[in-house]
Amino acid sequence: MISLKGKAAFITGASRGIGKSIALTLADAGANIIATATNEKLLGEVVGEIQKKGAKAIFVRIDVSKYDEVEKAVERGTQEFGSIDILVNNAGVTRDNIAIRLKTEDWENVLNVNLIGTFNCIKAASKYMLRQKAGRIINISSISGIFGNPGQANYAASKAGVIALTKVVARELASRNIIVNCIAPGFIETDMMQSMEEKARNAAVEKIPLGRLGKPQDIANAVLFLSSDYANFITGQTLVVDGGIAM
Ligand code: NAP
Repeated sequence: MISLKGKAAFITGASRGIGKSIALTLADAGANIIATATNEKLLGEVVGEIQKKGAKAIFVRIDVSKYDEVEKAVERGTQEFGSIDILVNNAGVTRDNIAIRLKTEDWENVLNVNLIGTFNCIKAASKYMLRQKAGRIINISSISGIFGNPGQANYAASKAGVIALTKVVARELASRNIIVNCIAPGFIETDMMQSMEEKARNAAVEKIPLGRLGKPQDIANAVLFLSSDYANFITGQTLVVDGGIAM
């Protein structure tokens, strides 16, 4: 059993999908949860679910692309729980189109949320982790950032950026016992996948050696491992969780 008892975990994109599963899973392991996203109603429901289990949680509405909102939320989390021990950068968006048809605003929006958002949270939370001389940062990338899926120039570039950012920050923070890793999910059943046409979904499943789409829990389990003492000597890495596509 992994115990995160008393640790405070700041999770972005915790209102639904993978982020919600991460919040519930870390809470089950004993962590206090700071759940963030833009939809307050859904965040309230997630916090309610966590509290029903007897764990502690608060939510803060933020747009991760706005540094001042992120900074205030991190501060609020430390006031409530005394520290930020685990940061999970999970918030993400897609605006797919082939590169020549991609609007500049769609390029900017995806980069702002996925890459600048991740950077903003690392910058704000690592200040506290540096003082604590301990911390875990887990960034959610995508296999699209490794392969470069057609139709996802903006998304793939943002997710490749997250992998590079992970490596840099892992090196910069290692001497202060702050461990930074990345997870690259494959196709996971969430709202994000719903935008895919049925034909494309079936084609995706055919590519997966394990023969199924991933579940949010598959990613939450990897986050739990990387948050735990079992991952004490792993930093700067990208853990691919995709049912075998990237083999
Ligand atoms: P999802 O169901 O669409 O959820 C996305 C989350 O991000 C929501 O909680 C959303 O919350 C939040 N979010 C979006 N924009 C935000 C902003 N500007 N500020 C703060 N929060 C924001 O997506 P998911 O499938 O769970 O994906 C989670 C992560 O996994 C993403 O980084 C995604 O790129 C990555 N991923 C997913 C897959 C997949 O197949 N599903 C594959 C590879 C990687 P609100 O709507 O409340 O703002």
